[in-house]
This record gives sequence, structure tokens and C-alpha cells, in this order.
Amino acid sequence: MSSAPTNVLSFDVEHWYSATLVRDSVSDPTDHLTKSVESVLSILADYDVQATFFVVGQVAERYPELIARIDRAGHEIGSHGHSHQPLFDLSKASFREEIAASTAAIRTATGTQPIGFRAPNFSVTPKTKWAIEVLHEAGYRYDSSVFPVRTPMYGVNGVPLEPYRLDPARPFERGTVNSPLVELPLAVAHPKLRIPIAGGFYARLLPRRLLVAGIRQLNARGIPATLYFHPWEFNPAVTTDEPGLHKRFVSFHGIDGLSATLRTLLETFSFTTAASVARAQPGGRSDTAADDQTITNARRTE
Ligand SMILES: [Zn+2]
Repeated sequence: MSSAPTNVLSFDVEHWYSATLVRDSVSDPTDHLTKSVESVLSILADYDVQATFFVVGQVAERYPELIARIDRAGHEIGSHGHSHQPLFDLSKASFREEIAASTAAIRTATGTQPIGFRAPNFSVTPKTKWAIEVLHEAGYRYDSSVFPVRTPMYGVNGVPLEPYRLDPARPFERGTVNSPLVELPLAVAHPKLRIPIAGGFYARLLPRRLLVAGIRQLNARGIPATLYFHPWEFNPAVTTDEPGLHKRFVSFHGIDGLSATLRTLLETFSFTTAASVARAQPGGRSDTAADDQTITNARRTE
């Protein structure tokens, strides 16, 4: 157990009606955000685990005190964009504005500069790879938006399954120890079939034991699992009759059992923030990189 890697636990903080499939069909959204976040914070406190909350900038603007509370509880605040528009709908220039606005909103709420990003709908794919350059320019140190299997809505085939350093111009392949950013791909089980086990919808759909087995299998290969959830998924009060049945299935199926699933995961595995797993990657601009450079230079002079 002690040699198993520490996994990444993350929550995308947005309104429940931001979920893509219900966004256009909910006419009278009720505000469940504070209560949903409080449910998550209390579960995390029970297990003394720190997680990353990727916050939508507009949410940080409207609920600065809630975001500050998450921060004060020792969790990391990252960016989940400003308006929750998938990158597929943005240009490089408008994404730059999104990142600037979202970064500013988080800094206002917490006093701290975010260093990590999660794209709405995991929308970093070859079509939107300019996003990583924008993140780099804006001072971000890691991204956790790449879903390493193609699905109907998102995903990229063939990218590494484990955290990797990357050069902003080539975000889907391993860079060198000097590459400035880290990617934390979302968890998939089975190196060939790449079955998504990353949380959210998948954690609500899959039997709990398969989820546990998938994470265990990744960890056995030395790979930390990066999991995502949404605070609203821990608040059954968000379910609505408005959207059609299919949409409701994807968005709300399994919502009653997700707290128990998260507790099982927290009892079974160790978790931490995305930033601490990103920082643990050798190289980059950290002290480790400087040490590596010294060693290389020393070898050269021998
Ligand atoms: Zn989202």
C-alpha cells in the first residue's frame, strides 16, 4: 500500500445546469452550489484529504467567499475556464481572455495565483492544442484536461496514461525533463482498451468494485489515477424532470450512491491535489531540474 502512487482527486466547480447535456433544457435553475460544495468538503474533512477544485471563473466572481472557504480548508483552487464554454467553441484569442478573467477571479477570491487548469468537457484535443500555449503564457504549470481515449464528446487516442512533462507546442507527447508543463491525463483502466474510470458519469455508472479494480490496476503499474467529480453530483436535490430521459440518464444516473462511492475510494486509496502530483514530476523549472543540470554539467567535465 505504501508504495502505491498517490492519486489525484479533483472537483469541477460549476452550476449543476452547466452540464452540457442539460444546459439548454433547464429553464429555471435553482442554486444548489453552496450546499453541494459543503457536502464535498465535509466528506474530504472526514478523511483529512486535500483535493483540487477547478473553479469556473464566473462562479468565483459570484461566490468568492465559498471559494475562499475551499482554499482555507487546505484544498487547491485551479481554473475551469471563465464561462464554462468548451474550447471547441473558442478561438485561441478568446481562450486567452477566458484564462485572464478566470485567473483574476480566482486571485481575487483566494489571493493566490492558480497554477492548474481543467478544460470544460475535457476539450483539449488536437483541434484545440493552442490552449496549452495559452496556459503556459499565463503562468500555469499543469493541465488536467486530456482524456486519453477518444469518446463521442472528447478525448485523444494514443497519449500517455501517466502524468508527463510536455512542450506547449506538442501537448500530446512526452517532452523532456526541461519541458515546462505537466499533463495529468484522466484515468482510464486497461492500457489497451482504455476504459474510462475517471469519475463523474463513469463513477456513477460503473459498479463500485470495477472502479476500485481499475484504480488498483493503474496504481500497480505505478500510475496515479486522476479522478474528477462535480460537487452537484453529491447533492441529489439537483435532479430535475425537465430534460429528456437520455439526458437525465447521463447527467443524473447514480447520483444517490456517489457519496458512498467516494467514501469507498477514500478508504481504499490515497489521494492528494493535482498540484502536488504535478510538482512531483521530475524536471521542469523546479530545483530537481537545476540539480539534473548540475549533474549533466559535472558529467561533461569529467
Ligand atoms: Zn465542467
